[in-house]
Amino acid sequence: MKQFLRKFYPSLYVDEISEIPLDLLRKKGIQGLIIDLDNTIAPWDQPTVTQSAEKWLKQAKNDGFKIFLVSNSTTSRVNYFMESLGIPGISMAQKPRRGSFRKALETMDLNYNQVTVIGDQIFTDVLGGNRLNLHTILVNPINRKEFFFTRLVRLAEKFVMKRFLQWFNKTE
Ligand SMILES: [Mg+2]
Repeated sequence: MKQFLRKFYPSLYVDEISEIPLDLLRKKGIQGLIIDLDNTIAPWDQPTVTQSAEKWLKQAKNDGFKIFLVSNSTTSRVNYFMESLGIPGISMAQKPRRGSFRKALETMDLNYNQVTVIGDQIFTDVLGGNRLNLHTILVNPINRKEFFFTRLVRLAEKFVMKRFLQWFNKTE
């Protein structure tokens, strides 16, 4: 059971993307950021990136990180963000399937140990990244006004995270 749950555990857990320490990632040898769109950098129902996320993305770009959006959202929505941010990406990514993550690695021309996956959902972002043994970072979702199904998933995530934090606190 423990081994099974580990697939759902992120390498790092922060409140929001702007709290991710870029210098720490660099020290770990990470050069590429695979980033989820909805509720990670933008509210899922709005066409704008949050101010703090935008600032952080700019900093990451300036620091020389390669950035790639991997989103399960629609092509029109993802294209809009790709254009406005000047960041490449993949829409309808079917996370947690591995294909889109592999494609992102290939496009960024980086190895498995050189990227981190950043997202707000355990069962898509964290699980997808972990299935390829990538470094993963979980953030709290930007807004909670969501579809019923997503709310159900959140409940399951809470269950997993409670156990993760118990395990994390024990091993720290
Ligand atoms: Mg998301």
